[in-house]
Amino acid sequence: MTGGGALTSQYDAVVCDLDGVVYRGPVAVPHAVDALTSLDLPIIYATNNASRPPEDVAQHLRELGVVCEPDAVATSSQAGAWVLAHRLPSGSAVLAIGGVGVATALREGGFVPVLPAHRREADLTVAAVLQGYGPAVTAADLAEAAYAVQGGALWVATNMDATLPTERGIAPGNGSLVGAVQNAVGRAPDLVAGKPAPPLYLLCADRLALDTRRVLAVGDRLDTDIEGAVAARMDSLLVLTGVDDLRACLEAPPQRRPTFVAPDLRALHGDPRSTGLVRLAEAVAAVHEARDARAAAHRVEGLASRAEVLLSHVVPG
Ligand SMILES: [Mg+2]
Repeated sequence: MTGGGALTSQYDAVVCDLDGVVYRGPVAVPHAVDALTSLDLPIIYATNNASRPPEDVAQHLRELGVVCEPDAVATSSQAGAWVLAHRLPSGSAVLAIGGVGVATALREGGFVPVLPAHRREADLTVAAVLQGYGPAVTAADLAEAAYAVQGGALWVATNMDATLPTERGIAPGNGSLVGAVQNAVGRAPDLVAGKPAPPLYLLCADRLALDTRRVLAVGDRLDTDIEGAVAARMDSLLVLTGVDDLRACLEAPPQRRPTFVAPDLRALHGDPRSTGLVRLAEAVAAVHEARDARAAAHRVEGLASRAEVLLSHVVPG
C-alpha cells in the first residue's frame, strides 16, 4: 500500500455492487449517492441481476440521484454473452431463458437470441443456452432449456443466487431455476457468469481496459461480491450496509476475505490510514490468521472484540 490520499487514489477504477451498497429496494443507502457522485474515477455498477437491461438499471440509479449511463452498468446477462463470445462464432443462435435483459445482452453481444416459445414451435437448433432470472419464466421454458442442453448446447447460467429477496418475502432465485434444469439433465451448467464466478468482474476490467489489480471491487456480500473479487484478483471493500456484518467477515474462509471493511461508502474518500481503515483491516487479518492457525477460542474472541472496537472508531471518509 502506498501512503497518502483517498482510498480510491490507489486504484484506477471502482466496480460497485448495487443492492445493499447503493440502494435497498427502492431507497438509496445512506451516504451512497453523495459518495459515488463525488468520485473522480470511473465506476462500473456490476449486478448479478440478469432480468433488467442496463438502461433500466441506469434509469433506476438516476432516479436516486446517481449520474449513470447504461454503459456504466454491467449485468450478469452481459457477462454471460461475453463468455459465449469467447466460445462461439458471432451470429450463433442462443436460447434466451429469463427476463428481457437476457435476450438484449445476447443481441448486443452479436448473437441471435431464440425465445423458448419460438424454439418450441420451430424446433430450432441452438448452440448454447443462456439461463438468467425472469419473474415470468415458466416450467415450459425450463423444459426447453433442458432439451437444448440434452441436445448438446453449451449451458451458461447468468448467476447461481439461490434466493431473491422481494418486498413480499424471499423468492426462488436463478440458482433455484438452474437447479430445476440440473435435476432434469443430471449435471451442472458448463459456466456461470455472475459473482462469485469471475466473468462479470473480468468483463468490467475488459470494458475499462485495465488489469484487474488496478480495480477496487465494492460489495456487501462475502459469498458473491468478495469471493468474486478474490477469484478475479481484484482488491475489495466490504461495506456493512447490506447483507454481511463484521462478524460474518471475521468468520469468512480465505476465498471470501476482503482487502478492506468499512461502515459505508464514505470510506472511498478518506485516507485509509487516517480513517482507521488500515488498522481495522489489520485487526480483521489478525482474526483470520488466528482462526487459520486454530488458535484458542478466547484468543480469537479477544482479537474479534478488538476488530469490533476499531470498526466503531472508523471515521467517515
Ligand atoms: Mg449486494
